[in-house]
Amino acid sequence: MNRTRWTISFAALLALVFLVGCGSAEKKDSDKLSIVTTVGMIADAAAIIGGEHVEVTGLMGPGVDPHLYKASEGDVARMAGADIILYGGLHLEGKMGEVFERMQTRIPTVAVGESIPVERRLRVAGKKGNVQYDPHIWFDVSLWMLVTDRIAETLAEQDSANAAYYQANAAAYRDSLQVLHDWVLERTALVPEDKRVLITAHDAFTYFSRAYGFEVRGLQGISTATEAGTGDVIKFADFIAKQQIPAIFVESSVPPRTIEAVQAAVRSRGFDVQIGGELFSDAMGNTGTPEGHYLGMVRHNVNTIVDALTGKASVELATEDSDITHE
Ligand SMILES: [Zn+2]
Repeated sequence: MNRTRWTISFAALLALVFLVGCGSAEKKDSDKLSIVTTVGMIADAAAIIGGEHVEVTGLMGPGVDPHLYKASEGDVARMAGADIILYGGLHLEGKMGEVFERMQTRIPTVAVGESIPVERRLRVAGKKGNVQYDPHIWFDVSLWMLVTDRIAETLAEQDSANAAYYQANAAAYRDSLQVLHDWVLERTALVPEDKRVLITAHDAFTYFSRAYGFEVRGLQGISTATEAGTGDVIKFADFIAKQQIPAIFVESSVPPRTIEAVQAAVRSRGFDVQIGGELFSDAMGNTGTPEGHYLGMVRHNVNTIVDALTGKASVELATEDSDITHE
């Protein structure tokens, strides 16, 4: 759909939705707060904190790239019928800014990532010299705890009758996140200093590297909107072969072709780099699997990274890990 048609149909839809009343676009259970989120990690936190008093719809499922995602007419209708909209912000949903702006005039629309204090955010080079921050905050579990606080606060504001319930759920979830954060620190400490290099398709892991002591390099920069060029592939291949980095990683929400091109280029330089596995970067795993929740997603990523960079089989680690439960 071209931009003009999109704008017209968007305006028409909004007019229709607001004329007949906000709740009419999507039928919802009136006893529950209806929450619409973008990425799965936010949907997961909202569902855990909101429990029985909320109904959560995540617009972006497994494998979906938030940087490139455009809201469909169905998404707009879902958002227009919601009580609360939660999104990442910090330009994570690069193509949805206009939709959020319009929604904001009628519905509480919260960029949860913007609850991170500026001094704890990572600054990145924005377009035309604008100040911009890395939106991939969920890779530092201690930052994600601040996001869950913001979600609990929003739910409590919109549904004060159940505020204590939301705060209690948030406190319990915070404890699980603290356990997870400590576990990640312990697990990543197994990787020797000279192997702490994480090479992925795009620059999603910078908060991870800061929190857990890795050097990260992404082929495509902070957003997947820019493609990696042949020059980048050569530069990366030279670096990997020279440093003898054992493994590089593909991401579930980014096509694997650039990482595969790097692997081929490294091999042509006589060093056998492995694809260390698939990381869930900007989207979680399938519903019904441990990786379909934030806790399981982080654990999967950390185990994949540590196993590949230390050359250990994941089976060995499975029994040790079993004392930490998935949601
Ligand atoms: Zn990303």
